[in-house]
Amino acid sequence: MNYSVDANGYYGEFGGAFIPEMMVPNIEDLRENYLKILEDPEFKSEFNTLLKDYVGRPSPLYYAKRLSAYHRTEVYLKREDLNHTGAHKINNTVGQILIARRLGKTRIIAETGAGQHGVAAATVCALMGLQCVVYMGKLDVERQEPNVLRMKMLGAQVVPVLSGNMTLKDATNEAIRDWINNPVDTHYIIGSVVGPHPYPDLVTRLQSVISEELQWQLQEKTGSPDPDYIIACVGGGSNAAGAFYHYLDNDSVKLVAVEASGKGIDSGESAATMVLGRTGIIHGSRTMLMQDDDGQILEPYSVSAGLDYPGIGPMHSHLYKVRRVIFEHATDDEALEAAFRLTRLEGIVPALESAHALAVLKKRKFGEKEVVVVNLSGRGDKDMAAYMNYMNDHQLF
Ligand SMILES: *Cc1c(COP(=O)(O)O)cnc(C)c1O
Repeated sequence: MNYSVDANGYYGEFGGAFIPEMMVPNIEDLRENYLKILEDPEFKSEFNTLLKDYVGRPSPLYYAKRLSAYHRTEVYLKREDLNHTGAHKINNTVGQILIARRLGKTRIIAETGAGQHGVAAATVCALMGLQCVVYMGKLDVERQEPNVLRMKMLGAQVVPVLSGNMTLKDATNEAIRDWINNPVDTHYIIGSVVGPHPYPDLVTRLQSVISEELQWQLQEKTGSPDPDYIIACVGGGSNAAGAFYHYLDNDSVKLVAVEASGKGIDSGESAATMVLGRTGIIHGSRTMLMQDDDGQILEPYSVSAGLDYPGIGPMHSHLYKVRRVIFEHATDDEALEAAFRLTRLEGIVPALESAHALAVLKKRKFGEKEVVVVNLSGRGDKDMAAYMNYMNDHQLF
């Protein structure tokens, strides 16, 4: 494959493993073993059985008739929102918990933004009887209460993080700190295609089940495995990486990644890394990063807690640079409007993150006969408070 990670963990100029010495043994252990484990028939069989019987895969590919009529194009939704725990995150945590067990680990740590990855990590820890600690920015703890309660019910310890702007970046810093202090018994389940090599590649491979299914589902529904477009939102980029993976070498399929531009690109309150960022190092990898002139990381903002991350996975930085992926962005308001449109036309309440991908159906022009797949990364139950505010503001009651 043209866009695969190289032997040193790089995608072009991006990636690598910029880590403190104390973390090297854990990362080396993972790097030496992950491909062997992923290719082991026993792992594959266990992983696939859990994806089928526990997660509920394959997730349906749904032809959205009324949404298609509205946008005058053929819209298909890849329903990751119907997975157990309500988002794509569970694909990754099921895979990583099986890897953690094979590496002899008994304690799991994770970071979370909107709480979906924390819930997915807490879920697989309950399933396997492992201890689970989830780091979460204090602001996110407050704005994503339902997911905090779910994690607690699942038996996880939720640690509120008070540094920085108290969101995802700060939670990730804290999880890394924990791993350095607990190098022997602990595995860190990163929730996206970020972090030092081999995480971006590992998480991409575990999420690639999305595009693997898309190929035969599209063949069944449209007579061709190839759509014209695949659209996915990007925080760190894992649902996009999974939805793009099996199409990366197929140039006839246009791939669109959608970042959150918050209150607007120039508002100073945004998370559009590709527009506002330049190359830097965050959480162990060289990638595009929002930073000031002195290289200090800028605090990102989005109404959606799963997208307000100042960096992006290194594979996406490369795909942007070589122009394989088109980068778009959507504001809070555009995403909220798109969420209500989907809900009222199709009876599906999307996650706020996924609503950013849906917003592009209005922002870009698509042909009437073009097949456009939107990866519906998660469901919107956790975002009811934001949706109710929007209803009040726009007198939708
Ligand atoms: C976490 C999350 C995202 C953002 O993470 P990616 O790694 O970019 O996919 C998007 N959608 C939902 C529903 C999420 O929970």
